[in-house]
Amino acid sequence: MDNLTDHLFHPQQVLDFLPENPIKEPFANAWIYMTNNYTKFQIATWGSLIVHELIYFAACMPGIIFQFIPFMRRFKIQANRPETFEGQWKCFKLIMFNHFFIQLPLIAGTYVFTEYFNIPYGWEEMPPWYDLALRVFGCAVIEDTWHYFLHGALHDKRIYKYIHKVHHNFQSPFGMTAEYAHPAETLILGMGFFWGILLLANHMVLLWAWVCVRLFETIDVHSGYDIPYLNPFHLIPFYGGSRFHDFHHFNFTGNYSSTFTWWDKIFGTDRQFKEYYAKQESLKSAQNSNKTQHNSKKTQQNGKKTKSQ
Ligand SMILES: [Zn+2]
Ligand SMILES: [Zn+2]
Repeated sequence: MDNLTDHLFHPQQVLDFLPENPIKEPFANAWIYMTNNYTKFQIATWGSLIVHELIYFAACMPGIIFQFIPFMRRFKIQANRPETFEGQWKCFKLIMFNHFFIQLPLIAGTYVFTEYFNIPYGWEEMPPWYDLALRVFGCAVIEDTWHYFLHGALHDKRIYKYIHKVHHNFQSPFGMTAEYAHPAETLILGMGFFWGILLLANHMVLLWAWVCVRLFETIDVHSGYDIPYLNPFHLIPFYGGSRFHDFHHFNFTGNYSSTFTWWDKIFGTDRQFKEYYAKQESLKSAQNSNKTQHNSKKTQQNGKKTKSQ
């Protein structure tokens, strides 16, 4: 069975101008080795589990290290709420439960899905990088939309305490808390991850590319650190980032999107976030002007002293 977009991205004349993928050769060798040595079932199930675990903890690693480097504290968004060992251990235990008892059974469905929709695994059918990038972006837009509305619904007073309260256990999040959630939430919000695959998958590689991007993104926004200039995600227009989602954990209300800021802008649910940062900015500039006044007074006084001497 073909899916909706199998024939969408082939305006070859335009695409020929785009550069080749620089890591194409080593990637090709690794991919061909994998498909020659493992069955589709092994790749879809164990391969996907390994990709998920490796990327999850690799993406968490910088944040885990930063807590031991005093220099990095200046980038911590809620500096008054540092990570604790107890908090991280509690988080790790629930994450492991979710990964192996909720997410692994879902991952096991990957093989059935790819067989049913005839999703290829071979190197010959590998899409070019720009096709893959566009599809991953499409997946992110779909997931973000699902997340905005369902996350907002999980905040409804009548159901909040049963499900979403678990994720809000950490008022100041750190990378690992990205998937710290009630199993029902893992299923409800996790569905947003799969809609994009259902609509846009044209190769097994899309599933892994999308899972990598989604994990790096959600761990980035939960990291609790905002390091300027170094984060490539900030090159994407409308990317929310860590300050945006950190505020959701800190304030509890508003900023319901996972990745982009447009839904919160459209529905005005980013109002408190904007007001908070506007206030912070005006406080900062007031402090700076006070400092400047104080310094110029000191200089005047010193000047007078020198004259009288
Ligand atoms: Zn929430
Ligand atoms: Zn969160």
